[in-house]
Amino acid sequence: MTSNDIRDRFLNFFKEKQHKIVASAPMVIKDDPTLMFTNAGMNQFKEFFLGINEAKYPRVTDSQKCLRVSGKHNDLEEVGKDTYHHTMFEMLGNWSFGDYFKEEAIQWAWELLTEELKIDKDSLYVSVFEGSNDADKLAMDTEAFELWKAIVPEDRIILGNKKDNFWEMGDQGPCGPCSEIHVDIRSAEEKVKVSGASLVNADHPLVVEIWNLVFMQYNRKADGSLESLPAKHVDTGMGFERLCMVLQGVQSNYDTDVFTPLIREIETITNSKYGKSEDVDIAIRVIADHIRAVSFSIADGQLPSNTGAGYVIRRILRRAIRYGFTFLDTKTPFMYRLVTVLTDTMGKAFPELKEQHQLIENVIKEEEHSFLNTLDQGLVLLDTIVQKTKGQVVDGRKAFELYDTYGFPIDLTALILGEKGLSLDENGFNVAMQEQKDRSRSASEISKEDWIVLTDDTEQEFLGYDLLEAKVKLVKYRKV
Ligand code: ATP
Ligand code: MG
Ligand code: MG
Ligand code: MG
Repeated sequence: MTSNDIRDRFLNFFKEKQHKIVASAPMVIKDDPTLMFTNAGMNQFKEFFLGINEAKYPRVTDSQKCLRVSGKHNDLEEVGKDTYHHTMFEMLGNWSFGDYFKEEAIQWAWELLTEELKIDKDSLYVSVFEGSNDADKLAMDTEAFELWKAIVPEDRIILGNKKDNFWEMGDQGPCGPCSEIHVDIRSAEEKVKVSGASLVNADHPLVVEIWNLVFMQYNRKADGSLESLPAKHVDTGMGFERLCMVLQGVQSNYDTDVFTPLIREIETITNSKYGKSEDVDIAIRVIADHIRAVSFSIADGQLPSNTGAGYVIRRILRRAIRYGFTFLDTKTPFMYRLVTVLTDTMGKAFPELKEQHQLIENVIKEEEHSFLNTLDQGLVLLDTIVQKTKGQVVDGRKAFELYDTYGFPIDLTALILGEKGLSLDENGFNVAMQEQKDRSRSASEISKEDWIVLTDDTEQEFLGYDLLEAKVKLVKYRKV
């Protein structure tokens, strides 16, 4: 089954159950001060859950473009290092706005996975909210537990805590318990050694969460207390690429046909090979992932820039360029050349990619040019710093200057120094960074006179040791 078939099968299954198929909302959000990017299928329906607007259709289904790189959901650091978190991904969903509730949601999810899509029942685990002892004193979700017990053996039902099995939109508003479905795709041999039940929610790459069924039954009031909602809602979200991984019988999202055409193209363009070395594999996965995030963002009208959402997109693109530069030896623009393959694989489901193809290519190419120039200049300057260094440790302030004035990524500095047998004075770097932050803070206080607005540092947060962390985490992943 191709990924395009899988998406259609999901949507049509719910269409048959009287759901209206609707389009994905844009991934870039322009009119919500609380959110820069859509990070879940429910975002576009927020007003229905809050009771601000009434839903036109009580049952809806779609595949939503999501981006999880900031705020509450930030998966950026996992991307490339693991095989099942992306920056941009599709979230398949079905909704009930005050219509059906737990019984149908659970039954249909099971029917779709095991009857329609024929996933082996014995590879599935479900989780149910266990209740809480804190101020909320929430009871266990026995309703969901009983419903699942009628379908699956009890030892496949895992009780989960508030973190994993209770969903809240924010400090206030609709919330409720959720039931998740996890799939164990390890070999039979591995399954005998360790029970899959013990690996649910344990970050195992082959025991992954695929679907979250949220049952909105409470409203959290401003004073923190909960009241029962008069109309109860269902909000579900399934990771499309993870579902494809399961149905296509592979062990990584990147081995599905969502990603393989991109990976083949990266191999060709950069003359590299996927599956031979961990560093190169991570770089290839990062690039295959990030080209989607950046292209979809530009298609939605958000170009890379120096502020806000545009800055987030610029950083994602630069992150991919750096991985290419460091591990695939790409010294000229290459990412823009992936846009055609991306459009070929996803353009049917998301026509905006086709419509904006030329713009996407041009913008990415331009960004690549200017960032590669920065890298070139930075390398020359770094060389001068190294030559002037006495001893093994390079002055952190000098490295900060390179980062601050020339935009040269600090992780690259550290990597290059490491290759030369030198090290970076991290403390000096951090002190210089802090001083700069303090300076810009007081500068903004003065210039705004009696209107004190502190500069927002959140987007300029230090993300420097990215590539180095990749190495540390890599070791951890190998042990799994
Ligand atoms: P995880 O625990 O794996 O990080 P989550 O609990 O944060 O997932 P939810 O917020 O419940 O995810 O989102 C619903 C579904 O979306 C998940 O069950 C998963 O299949 C998928 N999903 C979540 N985050 C990602 C991501 N970064 N990349 C791809 N799919 C994702
Ligand atoms: Mg998550
Ligand atoms: Mg989870
Ligand atoms: Mg979840």
